[in-house]
Amino acid sequence: MPRHHVVIIGSGFGGLFAAKALKRADVDVTLIARTTSHLFQPLLYQVATGMLSAGDIAPPTREILRHQKNARVLLGLVDDIDLANKVVKWRFHNDFQETSYDSLIVAAGAGQSYFGNDHFATFAPGMKTIDDALELRSRILQSFELAEFASPEERRRLLTFVVVGAGPTGVEMAGQIRELASSTLRESFRSYDPASARVILLDGAKQVLPPFGPELGAKTQKVLEKLGVEVQLESIVTDLDNEGLTVRRADGSVEHIESACKVWAAGVQGSELGKTIAEQSGAELDRAGRVVVGDDLSIPGHPEVFVLGDMAAIPGVPGVAQGAIQSARYAAKVLISRLDHTPDPGPFRYKDKGSMATIAKFDAVALVGRFKLTGFIAWAAWLFLHLLYIAGFKQRITTLLSWFITFVSNGRSQLAVTNQMMVGRLALEKLGTHSSGKLFQGEEVTPPKE
Ligand SMILES: Cc1cc2nc3c(=O)[nH]c(=O)nc-3n(C[C@H](O)[C@H](O)[C@H](O)COP(=O)(O)OP(=O)(O)OC[C@H]3O[C@@H](n4cnc5c(N)ncnc54)[C@H](O)[C@@H]3O)c2cc1C
Repeated sequence: MPRHHVVIIGSGFGGLFAAKALKRADVDVTLIARTTSHLFQPLLYQVATGMLSAGDIAPPTREILRHQKNARVLLGLVDDIDLANKVVKWRFHNDFQETSYDSLIVAAGAGQSYFGNDHFATFAPGMKTIDDALELRSRILQSFELAEFASPEERRRLLTFVVVGAGPTGVEMAGQIRELASSTLRESFRSYDPASARVILLDGAKQVLPPFGPELGAKTQKVLEKLGVEVQLESIVTDLDNEGLTVRRADGSVEHIESACKVWAAGVQGSELGKTIAEQSGAELDRAGRVVVGDDLSIPGHPEVFVLGDMAAIPGVPGVAQGAIQSARYAAKVLISRLDHTPDPGPFRYKDKGSMATIAKFDAVALVGRFKLTGFIAWAAWLFLHLLYIAGFKQRITTLLSWFITFVSNGRSQLAVTNQMMVGRLALEKLGTHSSGKLFQGEEVTPPKE
């Protein structure tokens, strides 16, 4: 008799930790993900700013699971799930496949939300994937390059960097662009001083890092401002294009900021697969498009389907790595208890292990329960924990080496950029979905008529 087959969608924290938690279970596991690697998203901003390479934070999933004999890894984009027939429909470019399951764990994460202004994405990429981080690296460094021969007005626009969203990612990005401009690129240009670049961190909220509370928010803002980041709070982006962005302030005034390089770090939108699941099961979606799951993380009428991590709306569980890891381990436990006919583990309970964000070199903030850490101690704790959670021994060593180079010398070893990084996403979008398979098969592809 074939063994119980568990299909997992996604190789992020949710997908990978679910697969690992099933290592000793009497099941076959098939993990399907649209990328070959397990991405450590918390360090994406360091790839975007040239400190780390993509490989440092994204080891191949199949390498991580190579000793787990009951697990198989497939590279594919899941387009659809047929809940009634228990089939996952997926494809590698134009090669369409179907995989049946007995149990399904969906951990497809979340994308960037532009709050209904999807056209902003053309000019202000978000940061969710390696592709995003490499595109941003290219946009940031090309702005400095172009400024070398631009007119004074255009140079001002090129050297104004705006990061939208003052959560941990926005704070980290703004701090790193500032350090890139002030330290790493110092003396590299002849017609201007890179330190003259403006870095603006902008948010509609009243403080930076809202989930960290007012005290740590104020401390973070102070450090950022000391570094030279302009923090603009209670400011909403109402329009954004190639030239810059329009911002409405708390007093109702409107300002246009000329800026060539914009980074969007403002909102999340649950995976599109959430809609497919909701339509077929009657599960609700919250405002961010995340699937509202039951106490055991399954969906209505389908106890064999678990939705977890960033794409699930679970009361009291933030969209952080621990949320995905703990929900993944829990789903695996429920599944095993059902197969073994042992008591189920009861409803899912989240253990908050705290949050942290780096602001600059040797400076971070951390909130662990009632304890607030700042400065070097928080930074050292951040360093240690991030190193601990990066998958792969090689990756830990290369990351440590790159950090050593940057922290000791301010140099960065990943400053190479290419035109493909800059325009690849936009070119593929223009050619339409399903174009990439045709491209590498040498077929003619014309953009769809508007
Ligand atoms: C820039 C950034 C910084 C962050 N910093 C922190 C931090 O400091 N601390 C912290 O705790 N958390 C942080 N987070 C949040 C944390 O990374 C997420 O909560 C966590 O990754 C969620 O895990 P997940 O498995 O649910 O989703 P993800 O990690 O996003 O994984 C989703 C997986 O699904 C795959 N996938 C998606 N759609 C499909 C499809 N249709 N078909 C096949 N595969 C698909 C993706 O390729 C990916 O493998 C950060 C996130 C970002 C973006």
